[in-house]
Parts: sequence; structure tokens; C-alpha cells
Amino acid sequence: AIRDSLTGLFVYRYFMERLTAEHGRSLLTHAPLTLLMCDLDHFKACNDRYGHRVGDYILKQIADTITKKVTDGIAARYGGEEFAILLPKQSIEEGRALAEQLKTTIEGLGISVRREVIPVTISIGVAAIPTDTLDAEELIRTADRRLYQAKNLGRNQVCGAD
Ligand code: GH3
Ligand code: MG
Ligand code: MG
Repeated sequence: AIRDSLTGLFVYRYFMERLTAEHGRSLLTHAPLTLLMCDLDHFKACNDRYGHRVGDYILKQIADTITKKVTDGIAARYGGEEFAILLPKQSIEEGRALAEQLKTTIEGLGISVRREVIPVTISIGVAAIPTDTLDAEELIRTADRRLYQAKNLGRNQVCGAD
């Protein structure tokens, strides 16, 4: 299956295949290619407090939000509570704008369980071809590095430059 059963997003393996294909296309056509690496904030604490079932429910709500917002890209579950979004033909500015929208939307979701609103936020790192690199692996490394920068700067934010 190319879709993850919990979230409905693309699985890691399919995402990597698409990254390879879109990377090749980007180099040939000189079109930009932008990557968003997203990770839920303090999700372990959320699981510990509300339980794994609620954690799964939150993951599904976040995935649905991503699916709705990412109409022109490839959204995947990259890891447990990590999501990767590939945006063919979109510049780093367009990627940063989408990342900010996602961040703000998720912050405002107000996911409620047992009449309690659970605060959920996300941190996002953005990197792009050709502005940051022409290499696919370096694209992932750069987006990852910026994701961890967003975490270090206090979470619930987008980092799109070093
Ligand atoms: P940070 O803000 O630094 O990202 O903190 P964090 O707690 O989100 O990071 P960490 O990587 O320590 O924890 C990730 C947690 O995500 C731990 C794991 O239990 C949870 N998780 C991963 N996959 C799933 C899943 O499929 N369902 C549920 N409920 N939880 C999951
Ligand atoms: Mg994580
Ligand atoms: Mg996390």
C-alpha cells in the first residue's frame, strides 16, 4: 500500500520514490522543488497524558488538516508523528507561506476529547531547490536541520532559513 492506514497520507517509501522523481524533473526543467519537514510538538507528553488512542485520533486530525491544505503537493507520514510535504514547482517563499498557514491552522484546531480541548502545535522546517541546494539528500538534511532549529527556538513555528 502507498497510503498509511492510520492517517491516509503517503507512506515513507512512496514519498522517497516521488522525491527522486520530482528531483530529477526539477533539475531537467529548472523548476523549483520545496520540502516541508513537520513534527508535532511534545507529542510524547500528549500520549502520556491522554493515552495512545487519543494520540492516534490527534494524528488523524492533523493528517486531515494537512490533506485539506496541501492541494498541490505530496503529503506523507515520514515517521511516527513526522510529516513530509513535497511541493513540486513551488518556490521556498510559497513553501514558507504554506508552512505558516499549516502551523496557524493546527494551533487553532481546538481538538477536543472528553470535553477537554487538547493543545496541539507543530514545528516545520522548510528547504528548497535551487535556493538551498541541488541535491535531494541535502534537501532533506536542510529541512531537517531547520525543523530542529524551529524546535530549539521554542516550537510552534516555521524555520525557513539558517
Ligand atoms: P518534540 O517537541 O521534541 O518533537 O517532542 P516529542 O515528544 O514530540 O518527541 P519524541 O520524538 O520524543 O516523541 C514522539 C512521540 O510520538 C513518541 C511516540 O509515542 C509518539 N508516536 C509516534 N508514533 C505514534 C503513533 O502512531 N500513535 C501515537 N499515539 N503516538 C505515536
Ligand atoms: Mg518526532
Ligand atoms: Mg515531536
